[in-house]
Amino acid sequence: MKRFVPFVLLAVLVPAITSIVLAQQPSQATLRISAGDRPVATVTLSGQLYFNAGDVVTALGGTITPDSTGFRVTLNNVVAAFGPDSRFGVVRDDLIEMPAPPIVVDGKPYVPWQFFQGFFKRAIDNEAVWDPATRVLAVRAAQRNVVSVQASVTNVQGISKIVLSLSGPAEYGIVKQPGLYTVAFRTPIHAPFAEQSVEDPYVQKLTFAGNELRIQLSAPEVVGDAYKLENPFRIVIDFRKGAAPAPGVPPPAVSRPVDQPGIRTIVIDPGHGGKEVGAIGPSGMYEKDATLAVCRKLALSLGSKLGARVVLTRDDDSVISLDQRTAIANQYKADLFLSVHMNAAVVKGAHGSETYFLSLDASDELAKKAAEGENAVSAAAQPTTSSDLKLILWDLAQQEYLNESSKFASAIQEEMNRATGVQNRGVKQAPFKVLVGATMPAALVEVAFITNPEEESKIKSDAYQNMVVDAITRAVQRYKTDYETRIGVAQPPPAAAPATTTTTTATRTGT
Ligand SMILES: [Zn+2]
Repeated sequence: MKRFVPFVLLAVLVPAITSIVLAQQPSQATLRISAGDRPVATVTLSGQLYFNAGDVVTALGGTITPDSTGFRVTLNNVVAAFGPDSRFGVVRDDLIEMPAPPIVVDGKPYVPWQFFQGFFKRAIDNEAVWDPATRVLAVRAAQRNVVSVQASVTNVQGISKIVLSLSGPAEYGIVKQPGLYTVAFRTPIHAPFAEQSVEDPYVQKLTFAGNELRIQLSAPEVVGDAYKLENPFRIVIDFRKGAAPAPGVPPPAVSRPVDQPGIRTIVIDPGHGGKEVGAIGPSGMYEKDATLAVCRKLALSLGSKLGARVVLTRDDDSVISLDQRTAIANQYKADLFLSVHMNAAVVKGAHGSETYFLSLDASDELAKKAAEGENAVSAAAQPTTSSDLKLILWDLAQQEYLNESSKFASAIQEEMNRATGVQNRGVKQAPFKVLVGATMPAALVEVAFITNPEEESKIKSDAYQNMVVDAITRAVQRYKTDYETRIGVAQPPPAAAPATTTTTTATRTGT
């Protein structure tokens, strides 16, 4: 798949940017590391200060090399990547958020100092601090706040609830494998015990090792939904029995399928979140809650049935901007992007599913209304910061995938029609902002009309959610097989290895 279009287009613009920068008089700052002080080149563009990434990284013993989408930095065997088309860098499975995208001057990459802050924390457990008054960028051992953890397990009404109570906020990720969930803390923790067996139908044993908590489950088909609560800070995982995996399933493939052709990484985007609640049903159900419930199940289903790496743009009630949602998909080099929503209608009795792919022209008046609704809800809470130039480049990027996006959307719509027995709604094109900027086949599904009382009550039920998840899983499987057959890398049909499900918690905005 060609996914380098935006960069190629931007590269054409780089000389223009460069000349602006050089007209601004390059300046110097001091890099302070344990080996002493040394100069680092900086430039200022539109009020933003950028540091020569090579100066800083090589002073610490790392390397920096250009690659097809930008630059690759290696330090202490940890690799990070960034490109001039995005203000998100990536290190391991985490995103590094910068206030502005990196720039290239005379072929050398310059980054805001926040890149070093994010990268050095993961690579060498150091913090980077910029003092604008003295113009010193200090890199030093991180001030570590140890967070103490308490764990409890209770089974209520068939759900086993693990509650991890923390003495303060902590960053963490959860790796889900059949029979084993691992909570990996990114801040040092003080564990309450090393190992404890649990009398519980679903949870067998809790083991703390280093900064990880391993949760041993009683069976591979036990699945968990995780969320966090604040004040005090708690991580909650609800375990229940999910669908049984196919017999003879091999142990999970933990290897990360990167840079192989085919559909390997799928980004699922639960619509809305936080104060941006989306549409509201007649009995008060929020679209943001319905989309998250469906997407969590969908992520597990796609991970186990397709052996795909699945990333959720949010796994809790965070506010995430539309730009960030596609940025996440691009940074994870996703092969497929699906945004999940619930429809709203002024027309009484509107029902059924609709699937969209991106077009600047809506295919009919109602499709235009749907797009206006979804775009407006977000615009109210999150003013768009995209420049026209950026939008044009992004549009061209998605233009590359219109044909594939249309095929993907059709597969979803057909399976949803088959599952719900509703035939009168089809695939549509509309200018949904969340699809703008995805450099992979992308679609948006409006699962059902949350504004219709009958559909709203269905959306609440597990049975209906599972039916939707099964239909979308079949659609993704169909599209995957079709696509891989066309490009000649068709895999043997699945029931294949379940893979890990990655959820991202590094992406919320500061609002
Ligand atoms: Zn929506």
